[in-house]
Amino acid sequence: MIDKRNFMQLFSSLLMNSMIANTACKAKDIKQEEIVVIGAGISGLSAAKTLKAQGYKVKIIEARNRIGGRLWTSNKWQDLPVDLGASWIHGVDNNPITEIANQLNATLLKTEYDNSVIYNSDGKIFSDAQQEEIEKLSNKIYSIIENAQNNNQDISIRKAIETFVKKYPKNSQTYQLINFILNSEIEQEYGGSIDDISTFWYDSDKQFGGDDKIFKDGYNIISNFLAQGIDVELGQKVNSINWSSGKVKITTNEKVFFADKAIITIPLGVLKRNIIQFTPNLPNEKNIAINNIGMGVLNKCYLRFEECFWPDDVDWIEFISKSQGEWSEWVSFQNAAQMPILLGFNAANKGIEIENLSDKKIVDSAMSALKVMFGANIPKLIDYQITRWAKDEFSFGSYSYNKLGYNPKMRDALAKPLNNKLFFAGEACEKQYFGTVHGAYLSGIRAAGEIIKA
Ligand SMILES: Cc1cc2nc3c(=O)[nH]c(=O)nc-3n(C[C@H](O)[C@H](O)[C@H](O)COP(=O)(O)OP(=O)(O)OC[C@H]3O[C@@H](n4cnc5c(N)ncnc54)[C@H](O)[C@@H]3O)c2cc1C
Repeated sequence: MIDKRNFMQLFSSLLMNSMIANTACKAKDIKQEEIVVIGAGISGLSAAKTLKAQGYKVKIIEARNRIGGRLWTSNKWQDLPVDLGASWIHGVDNNPITEIANQLNATLLKTEYDNSVIYNSDGKIFSDAQQEEIEKLSNKIYSIIENAQNNNQDISIRKAIETFVKKYPKNSQTYQLINFILNSEIEQEYGGSIDDISTFWYDSDKQFGGDDKIFKDGYNIISNFLAQGIDVELGQKVNSINWSSGKVKITTNEKVFFADKAIITIPLGVLKRNIIQFTPNLPNEKNIAINNIGMGVLNKCYLRFEECFWPDDVDWIEFISKSQGEWSEWVSFQNAAQMPILLGFNAANKGIEIENLSDKKIVDSAMSALKVMFGANIPKLIDYQITRWAKDEFSFGSYSYNKLGYNPKMRDALAKPLNNKLFFAGEACEKQYFGTVHGAYLSGIRAAGEIIKA
């Protein structure tokens, strides 16, 4: 349920959204102020588009040699572009991304979590009775977590369920199932380890209703649309931002840019590394936020085959792996897109561990999991595509999550403008919709709105 305050915020964002969509060319009176947006991800693009529509002179500077940031469609397979960053519009109803997708007549494909099959670690499909057991265990885990939310002190999810888990020997099926639930339902969603995730705040995000849908031609259809008519300089890695007096001075590996105001959409993972020198330093409350909001990891491994050898009518394949969280979640593109492609995920600590392996080792490990489920004689792999988001120097992680030590004021502190000169956007600034494309998009519109109001 969306409460009244959230509704008003969302409503004004959606108004702004339709303004972008409909009046991109109707620039109002030309403004003299020059705005530089750092980062051409969805938040930077939505900010720039909003400002341009209001007559501002805007430039985006971007470190990579492409736009989109964590929206990254690979065209390596011409017959099926695949998303190496975000894939889904999570909850299509009233989602601002759906509105743009509809405007562009983008083909959206539905995948359903419930349309799934679960394989045990011995390769047998879970019976209905076993599925019921998982459901019961899952309910139990969530009631333990909910109780822990009433404590005076926040603890990690691991700590909250510790006593319950201890009842089961490590080699028991129940112990494996608990680990499976914690990984597939919490770590895969938030990207953080249950050792670090806050019990108080882990699920404080809001969701849109409706189905989850992916873009047949890739998510970059959205970023490409938003970038139309925007001046973007690629290959500009920002090293320092001086906002001490006069204009904001932004120094990259190649050039110096001056701006009346700057919008910073640098991902949280990059801010955490202190790679960018701010003069004067960022205020303490921002540094506290940067340190205490977690940056999670979700990695993808697409495997392409000649033909489909798994159940062709399911969207999700789940695997109770012996090694916690290893290849526990798969999406099939056979049902949704009629393509014999499987997408395996690894999240949190397992995601980091696996991405440190060579491509060959990752593919061998993924194939071993498939062989347990579908037999030793599965067809040979034709090709693969692998992500390594934890190592990515312009992201250092996949998306933010609420870790132990977090409180929601920190996202507000991260988003707060400084001296009417520096403005901040990006998924991590979003209290309600963090970790999503729509959250990042709305944060860009919010930051642009702050400049417009100012
Ligand atoms: C694997 C994965 C799966 C995901 N799945 C989904 C999903 O299904 N649905 C969903 O809603 N969300 C998903 N997300 C989250 C979503 O992709 C992000 O929340 C969103 O794209 C973030 O947008 P942003 O503008 O905040 O950041 P970014 O897209 O990261 O944009 C920031 C930009 O800043 C640039 N930059 C960094 N450092 C510098 C520098 N020093 N100088 C200049 N530029 C710099 C970066 O290159 C980048 O282009 C997923 C993310 C990942 C990684």
